[in-house]
Amino acid sequence: MSSISHTGSISLVIPVYNEESMLPHLIGEIESFRKSRKEKIGVILVDDGSTDSTVALARSLTSELSGYTLVEFTRNFGHQLAVTAGIEVCTDDAAIVMDADLQDPLDVAGKMIDAWHEGFDVVYGVRTQRNDVGWFQRQTARLYYRFFRSFTGVEAPVDAGDFRLLSRKVMKAYRQLGEQQPYVRGLIAWLGFNQKAVEYVRPGRLAGSTKYPWRRRFELALDGIASFSGKPLRYAMRMGLAVSAGSIIGLIWVLFTKYVFETAITGWASLIFVAFFFGGLQLFFLGVVGSYLARVYDEVKGRPRYVIQDIWLLGKDRAGSIQADDELVPSTHFTRLEEE
Ligand code: UDP
Ligand code: MG
Repeated sequence: MSSISHTGSISLVIPVYNEESMLPHLIGEIESFRKSRKEKIGVILVDDGSTDSTVALARSLTSELSGYTLVEFTRNFGHQLAVTAGIEVCTDDAAIVMDADLQDPLDVAGKMIDAWHEGFDVVYGVRTQRNDVGWFQRQTARLYYRFFRSFTGVEAPVDAGDFRLLSRKVMKAYRQLGEQQPYVRGLIAWLGFNQKAVEYVRPGRLAGSTKYPWRRRFELALDGIASFSGKPLRYAMRMGLAVSAGSIIGLIWVLFTKYVFETAITGWASLIFVAFFFGGLQLFFLGVVGSYLARVYDEVKGRPRYVIQDIWLLGKDRAGSIQADDELVPSTHFTRLEEE
């Protein structure tokens, strides 16, 4: 357990994707939060290929502020990779990963920082109550977290999203993982370290709309399972064995009725359904195998997981003259952080 005597520097790592309607609230809240804390708090906004005015707005809203960095992706790579990039560029003593929509409240971030001062390396937010989603989504999420834990054996906290504080040590360990399709919350749990939960009530989104439609949620859930367990492959094999064994028993029964009772079993219509059922099952398991293969293929190609167009220091931190209207300043007028 690391004991931190100084107050330290912390970055808020915030992925933003078409969040123009949230940014003014977000930056306003962050500014009052920063004033209330004794630590040095910076902000890393990771623009995940927004197509609205998010980037321009981030620049203009922070023109008189300091401590803001903008990591600009070349296109949309997805929330998990945006979070990953934020963690990978952060050089502070700790990072807090949070949503741009203030569903991860800043006072809870404050509690996370306090727990970090106590010596915890990972402090995660646990939603005791969710006001952000409907009954169905709440229940499926609850079930999923429990299923994930028991199925994969990874001691991932239940009812916790990606809202969490990571110490410098954790960030360093995370950088070494380099998975193509990271399931961030699972990976952090997998890393271990001393972890602490902070409970909170999750409010609804303040503005804008969710960027996680059901399809993406489902993909994230599958990614989580596939990246932590090969069990579905083993289950496919066991099921195949069980069905084969069952069919042999069936065959014995058919022969028995034919030669002993001298009657043939009728009802061949049912056969077609059996054929369809097992046809479907085979395709399903072929798909399961395929999805693992696709992951292997992704890893083998070894492409960069995301592409950064630029990393900008925003606001007062940037060098050179400040133009009156930030939105009109071409991007080359912003300070670019040199690559290591
Ligand atoms: N986000 C992102 N890339 C995406 C989708 C979402 O960077 O492809 C960001 C989004 O701007 C927000 C966070 O990830 O800050 C969580 O997204 P959202 O609030 O839409 O998810 P929800 O809270 O509805 O699960
Ligand atoms: Mg949200």
